[in-house]
Amino acid sequence: MFSEECQLADLLNQFNTTADTGQNRLVYSEQWVHNQQTLILLGQNHGAQAMVDDYGNVSLDFPGQEETLPIATGSHMDTVRQGGRYDGLYGVLGGFCAIQKMYQQGDLPKKPLRLISFSEEEGSRFPAAFTGSKYYTGQQQQVAALVDETGITFEQARSNAVKQLQAMNVRRQRAPLPASFTELHIEQGPRLAQAHQPIGLVTGIVAQNRYKVTVHGQANHAGTTPMAQRQDAIATASRLMASLYDLADKSSNSLTFTIGEIRVSPNVSNVIAESCTFTIDCREESDERLATFLSAMNTVIKQFDNVTVEQTLHVPATLLSQALRQRNAKIATQMKFPFQELFSGAGHDSQIMNTVVPTTMIFVPSKTGISHAPAEHTKMSDLLIGVALLTASLSAQANEA
Ligand SMILES: [Zn+2]
Repeated sequence: MFSEECQLADLLNQFNTTADTGQNRLVYSEQWVHNQQTLILLGQNHGAQAMVDDYGNVSLDFPGQEETLPIATGSHMDTVRQGGRYDGLYGVLGGFCAIQKMYQQGDLPKKPLRLISFSEEEGSRFPAAFTGSKYYTGQQQQVAALVDETGITFEQARSNAVKQLQAMNVRRQRAPLPASFTELHIEQGPRLAQAHQPIGLVTGIVAQNRYKVTVHGQANHAGTTPMAQRQDAIATASRLMASLYDLADKSSNSLTFTIGEIRVSPNVSNVIAESCTFTIDCREESDERLATFLSAMNTVIKQFDNVTVEQTLHVPATLLSQALRQRNAKIATQMKFPFQELFSGAGHDSQIMNTVVPTTMIFVPSKTGISHAPAEHTKMSDLLIGVALLTASLSAQANEA
């Protein structure tokens, strides 16, 4: 059944495009449908039963000796706009190679195995992220009416794309939850590459809050309004931003603080700004440390007049399964793969899966830490070390008593 050698490089080439603009596999797009279909056929050709749920999550179930809950691995099929070759896809195809290797090694594993290709994780087409794993785990979502930048609703895009997958020879159903979930992923940061370590074992995923801050002013003539009589939204916003950066610099080493978007109205060179809106994204390894920073941040903001703050996102910190991580540490030591334990500053499907089943993550290095860009790169030898560790990890889980 699993006679072919698994060729990770060939699979990555097959599922990625060669475009200079990188990967644009937005959820429910043509390329996304094509890739999920190709994956279903690949799994079926290797003896898997395919399930496709109403959000387009693909589950490929490979048999075990016992009829019991499967040991699952996988990641997401979608990318950001102009994304890289490995974010998400490596976990799907690396997971496929790991499962294939296990079956090549001989006897059927005791427990069945499952490869999951989540529909969407990035939030890059519609203003909602993790819609795939949230559906997979039964979380309620209000996403049907969300629109993409061309005005297509989530519901229109979803039903059109999922119809094409469910027309295949698959079970049309939400998959029952697996016994555990192990996600293989690129680090998307520089720590492993800088430490020359091929493996990261993820302890948890950061807590994250996002805000939209608006400073209100009064539009007026840039030449005739005396400096002392202005309500200049940009002047206030820039001082506020500088104070917030000062605060962030003095806070704990694990805090990240980003002002990534600034919008000014009317945004005209000879008019004093009427309003300036900017975003704040702040992340910390623990909910307590994030709360400490947020309270200091509010104190700073209160020192400025005419400022309104709207919270747009709150995600608590996630602690992934310690038992699965410790087991992976033991296996990595036996296999002589240097590793470090680390926190993830990026969100992943694993934080959603972790709410319902024991979940762990394995990272491989990202060259110069770049991700979400066409320059995203991990060398093949590191990708294969990740797959080798995943294979051993899945095998240990699937064959335990
Ligand atoms: Zn990802």
